Amino acid sequence: MLLTGTGRLAPIGLSPWAIQVRDGRIAWIGAPDEAPPDADRQSLGDALVTPGLVDSHTHPAFAGDRSDEAAARLEGAPSTEGGILRTVRATRAADDETLAALIAGRLRAALAAGTTTVECKSGYGLSLAEEVRHLRLIRSVAEGLPLRVVTTFLGAHAIPPGTDLPTYAAHVADDMIPAVAAEGLADFVDVFADAGFFDLGTTERIANAAADAGLGLRLHAEQLRRTGATELGIRLGAASVDHLEQLDDEGVAALAASTTVATLLPAPAIVLRDRLPPARALLDAGATVALASDANAGTYAGFGTMPLILGLGATLLGMTVTEALTAATAGGAMALRLPDIGRLQVGARADLVAWDADHEGAFALRLGAVHPIRTWVAGTQIAMETPL
Ligand SMILES: [Zn+2]
Repeated sequence: MLLTGTGRLAPIGLSPWAIQVRDGRIAWIGAPDEAPPDADRQSLGDALVTPGLVDSHTHPAFAGDRSDEAAARLEGAPSTEGGILRTVRATRAADDETLAALIAGRLRAALAAGTTTVECKSGYGLSLAEEVRHLRLIRSVAEGLPLRVVTTFLGAHAIPPGTDLPTYAAHVADDMIPAVAAEGLADFVDVFADAGFFDLGTTERIANAAADAGLGLRLHAEQLRRTGATELGIRLGAASVDHLEQLDDEGVAALAASTTVATLLPAPAIVLRDRLPPARALLDAGATVALASDANAGTYAGFGTMPLILGLGATLLGMTVTEALTAATAGGAMALRLPDIGRLQVGARADLVAWDADHEGAFALRLGAVHPIRTWVAGTQIAMETPL
């Protein structure tokens, strides 16, 4: 198949352009008049075309609704860690069919909005049986959808009632991670390494169990307090440290000197009226930056909103549109250690989106109101379904 267009191919800025796709991958890329002959030639007119978006941080496995809590918080009520436990109760009470339908609706919304790879965390089970159930449901829903799903075990999301931090962290490390790994249910382990949740000592213990089980590591870091979780993640070889609202210059320099990706999540920062992460400083220092949604039960529940997140990167976080688009594609791919996606280059997976826009600046100008008109995953055009 040879795709051609007279519009912009972003973020590389080629126009006009042609891409030959073979066996699900980009086989050739360049100017249309130099393209190799191909019987299946399709023109996309002047539409903007980009790599499929990569959402490298989501929490889709939950039931219940906490909009009331968000409203109360915005009226001045304190946010409490009890919120996660409220979702845990609702999610444990949801049967497999209900929970699978909720997860599927969220992933379909992501795909319909141009996300072709999505990371999905567990973390609203907080017991061995429930965490395993949620990961199995994510895996089985993913099998029925064309987008690529990366799964992350986040048993260390909060401390469930009736136990304490050291006891629960030992259970996560010694029992849950080996069970999850034995069944092949997760690619990564994540820890909520922040004040009032998992301290650096228990985070390291859990990270070591992940390494022993052959699983990658990513951390929720520096959202509530500057704890040093960034430096810990770098030392332990984390693929990504996520949030970073409270990061300082030292942390920025540490990330810039590492291969750990800085994943920024502007949406929950806005909903929580929190500080914004230091995107400009990270980019200027040379860190690899990803933008992701953090769609979850309690602090930002917008699934299928990566075009908005990309726009917020460019407007609110001080990134250029090209930097934000790169962060929402190749940056997310690096955060998931998937170097063959999110890029317009020969050999990359042909995950492509044609948008109802003619310039990538629309992601900033329209702030969320940019929509796919055609989407390909691994070179196959997917049928657009109405989400939810
Ligand atoms: Zn999160």
